[in-house]
Amino acid sequence: MSAASKGKFSLEYLLNLLVNAGLLGQSQAGKIVSDYGTAIGGSRSRNIGAGQSKGQPKTDPLDYVTSLKLPLVGAAEGRLIDDDVLARLMAQDSGFRYLRVEQRELDMELVTHILPRSFASRHMVLPLALEGNNLTVAVRHPFYQAILDDVRRVANRPITPVILSQTNIKKLISDIYAFNTSVKGAAGQYEGGSLTGVDVNNLEQYVKLKNAAEISDDDQHIKNLIDLLFAEAFDGHASDIHLEPKREALLVRMRFDGILHDMYRLPAVIHSAMVSRIKTISRLDIAERRRPQDGRIKISHHGDEAEVRVSTVPVAFGEKVVMRILNPESLFLDLKTMFFNSADYEKWSSFAANPHGIILVSGPTGSGKTTTLYSTLRQLATPEVNVTTIEDPIEMIHEQFNQIAVQPKVGITFGSIIRTILRQDPDIIMVGEMRDKETAENAVQAALTGHLVLSTIHTNDAPSAVTRLVELGLEPFLVASTVVGIMAQRLVRRICPYCCDDFVMTEKMALDLGFITQGDLNLKQGRGCDECRNTGYLGRLATVEVLPFSPRLKECILTGNQNSLDLKNLARTEGMTTLRENALDLMLAGKTTIQEVLRVTGAD
Ligand SMILES: [Zn+2]
Repeated sequence: MSAASKGKFSLEYLLNLLVNAGLLGQSQAGKIVSDYGTAIGGSRSRNIGAGQSKGQPKTDPLDYVTSLKLPLVGAAEGRLIDDDVLARLMAQDSGFRYLRVEQRELDMELVTHILPRSFASRHMVLPLALEGNNLTVAVRHPFYQAILDDVRRVANRPITPVILSQTNIKKLISDIYAFNTSVKGAAGQYEGGSLTGVDVNNLEQYVKLKNAAEISDDDQHIKNLIDLLFAEAFDGHASDIHLEPKREALLVRMRFDGILHDMYRLPAVIHSAMVSRIKTISRLDIAERRRPQDGRIKISHHGDEAEVRVSTVPVAFGEKVVMRILNPESLFLDLKTMFFNSADYEKWSSFAANPHGIILVSGPTGSGKTTTLYSTLRQLATPEVNVTTIEDPIEMIHEQFNQIAVQPKVGITFGSIIRTILRQDPDIIMVGEMRDKETAENAVQAALTGHLVLSTIHTNDAPSAVTRLVELGLEPFLVASTVVGIMAQRLVRRICPYCCDDFVMTEKMALDLGFITQGDLNLKQGRGCDECRNTGYLGRLATVEVLPFSPRLKECILTGNQNSLDLKNLARTEGMTTLRENALDLMLAGKTTIQEVLRVTGAD
């Protein structure tokens, strides 16, 4: 045991660490100690921070120091001395390992079996994992001898304490025990039923069908479990929740900032019940398990409303459910804030200011094309104009748009519906995607007859969209005369502002990554914190490539040259900034990392 663990956990101990680390002045520390005495004595009514109830001052040193909201010297503006900073200092001092842990990294069974919830939350201690026979136990400070002795006796094995931030431990304790109760409860209900022990064969199909009808959707455990998943997805700003049936388990995954993360492996027996519950609340047919279905749920969480689009599809071991969380805040943005480069914003705005013509956004799925179109349309949608959209499916309802969903079964396709829409006296039309000749031709017709048409197209960069339109069967002269401009876009993950640190990239590192720089580069990177789920990234930013159809570009297309490389070179001489260049600017401005630039614009 280190020297620290023989002492006592006190305010002086914490302040000492801060003073030694150069984060606090000696005199400032002295003042804090005397204020603390006053606060504890309660002789005067003083406000010592959030969460304090009247007459009952916080006596915990850790709570007290964090409640002071002291600025963190040498860190980005706004960073405070929080419990994470203190946890790191205490770990350094005591020789304990510092860790940051997420619920999904823990073995629920192990954690909840060793200690009851009451003990864990009373003492803020949590078993984390077995390393060999050694049990790793999370504590919030190093002075835990007596409690750790208790844990050692209960667990009946040697233990290794590690330090986690208090916030981290609290969240783990509250989440993991609640989650465990629901999973256990639900599994208990369906275990021993006709589902267990049945192998994957025809018999199982039969049994499952029968079982689906038996599952009542008022099962509280299942309800809780789904609520907990939604809460976790909302809090972490996940865009999708996947429930994937596997042979042995139900795998839950979530997508954060464009990247899928494995979250939980739940008992396979609760899969059908979970799917039934989701189908019920999204008004799908519970008994239909062989055909894909689509539905919607409206959900409110902490006063925020979100719409969730549900899609089910049968896969090898049951129905896979994907729930997309549609957040109005992320689908409708202030256009200006979307663009890092104001010249690009000006160009894009000038496209949208045209009374007629075609404007295209290009990029792969998940590159934020819908957000760009929605945000642009919202800006254009005034009471004087009729905005009509054709979407597959409708992403988000906006009351100023007339939105039509593609339904091939009744003959509503992108291409066919444009003709109908033209009789509806539209001014601005948004077509989900230019995916075939009919759509492209009808969009051109609409543009030629005085309408502004916005759409998307699947190409890697802006110039390739021209080539693609010609490949779809449009005459080059029609492309040149109707298209106003094209913007390619991608999303890079933004460095988390809560844990953003300086990072120097040496010339050699840059060269190894394929960049030639002059001297070292002062960049930023995320360290990982609670806010960003320890990834170092929070939210995403657009990198764009805006291509106006200039007279020279039109000339080039008209004379039969639709080669994307030639168009690109021409556009660059006319001032187009490429996707890669824009992404690098974001990196140099400390907004994103080199890894993101390479991941997203690697093909360039
Ligand atoms: Zn962070």
